[in-house]
Amino acid sequence: MDQSINDLSVIDRAHVFHPSTHAAQFARGEIPNRIMTGGKGVYVEDRDGRRSIDGFAGLYCVNVGYGRHEMATAIYEQAKQLAYYHTYVGHSNDQIIRLSERIVRKAGMGMSRVYYGLSGSDANETNIKLVWYYNNVLGRPEKKKIISRRRGYHGSGLMTGSLTGLPGFQNHFDLPLGRVLHTGTPHYWRAGKPGETERAFSRRLADELDALIRAEGPETVAAFIGEPVLGTGGIVPPPEGYWEEIQKVLAAHDVLLIADEVVTAFGRTGEYFGCHTYDIRPDIITIAKGVTSAYLPLSGSIIGEKVWSVIEEGNDKFGAIGHGWTYSAHPLCAAAANANLDIVDREDLTRNARETGAYLQAALHDAFDHNPLVGEVRGVGLLAALQFAADPDEKTPFDPALGVGAKVSAAALEEGLIARAMPNGDILGFAPPLIITRGEIDQLVAMTKRAVDKVAKDLGR
Ligand code: PMP
Repeated sequence: MDQSINDLSVIDRAHVFHPSTHAAQFARGEIPNRIMTGGKGVYVEDRDGRRSIDGFAGLYCVNVGYGRHEMATAIYEQAKQLAYYHTYVGHSNDQIIRLSERIVRKAGMGMSRVYYGLSGSDANETNIKLVWYYNNVLGRPEKKKIISRRRGYHGSGLMTGSLTGLPGFQNHFDLPLGRVLHTGTPHYWRAGKPGETERAFSRRLADELDALIRAEGPETVAAFIGEPVLGTGGIVPPPEGYWEEIQKVLAAHDVLLIADEVVTAFGRTGEYFGCHTYDIRPDIITIAKGVTSAYLPLSGSIIGEKVWSVIEEGNDKFGAIGHGWTYSAHPLCAAAANANLDIVDREDLTRNARETGAYLQAALHDAFDHNPLVGEVRGVGLLAALQFAADPDEKTPFDPALGVGAKVSAAALEEGLIARAMPNGDILGFAPPLIITRGEIDQLVAMTKRAVDKVAKDLGR
């Protein structure tokens, strides 16, 4: 197909249904389309020759950076050898066997088996089915409700879209489905009371969770799902003591914990898993994104021994488990994952996320702690966010109609930087590839500063 840039742009508007996009505005040409053509290191390029630092690693996934020939070679070699065979009824492939062993070993925490999918959403759908199955095996058919946090993000499927605590993913889709409950967002800056310590705030959220479980009846509550660091809802690291307090409540009511590590696993927080950073002991872990750095799609549900032993018991009682995707444990995706994790290990990207991440956090604090547009600078490892506020001291939000986060993101793009306006509030998010250097961080922060200054000027500040 030899199409001019212009033709492709027209065809895009005519035939591609873009996710998370105002479809009508896009079709009418009111939203620019950017046709991406290449990437190298932390940079991406489009058909107009515009080059940007990708400060969000695609959607926090291209952790080893763009254009890694080693990744392409691994996929190519596997495709020549065995492009596909299913993994039903005992069939396997060497790539997935090696991958599973290394994931379970790196996770530790009593993890045992990995079930594979292709997206974070489908992995979480699997998790919910397994949690329900678990309680059926244990003879507790009433224990089925799942609790997530407001502003948590767990996918956009039927059940996972219900768990996602962002109204935009539910409204007009007849979601949430039943059996889903929401509890408070652990955002101290936004919801902490005057004079309340972070610890006390965490305890208050744990008390709120405890009260919710008691009100519903602990015999009806099956699991709690949360991201170690709240991601799409605003990149919010947990306040001090949060996971410790939450886990006490879950243990008291025999409620399983699903750690959704789709964003945090494989180095992003400066440890291999976010659970390691925050001393979380989950029963199930969701992975995706960073497992392949998105060179091919792959997700997984890492199942801890406690749940696994009940699954085995259930199969002995009920027969083989009725859950299977055609592409589960796909050998090409597994080859990509193994090559990707080889790079993560060899280049010690977890350490880079910790050290260059600390450098990023310090640089953002330096640049924005006293900025008249910025209420909070927050983050961990190579995950960070700026929270804009009309009055930073009073934490007064901007009028949403002003679209301040989106304006800063657009201004950053003009500077040559992709930083994401998060879907909930005036938040600018950063999650660069884990290979980023200090020099590139300096550029990223300088570009962000110019973008924020430009928007401040436009707002008359
Ligand atoms: N869980 C978390 C924590 C995520 O951030 C995401 C995606 N951003 C998902 C689940 C869903 O993943 P996917 O988009 O691959 O379905």
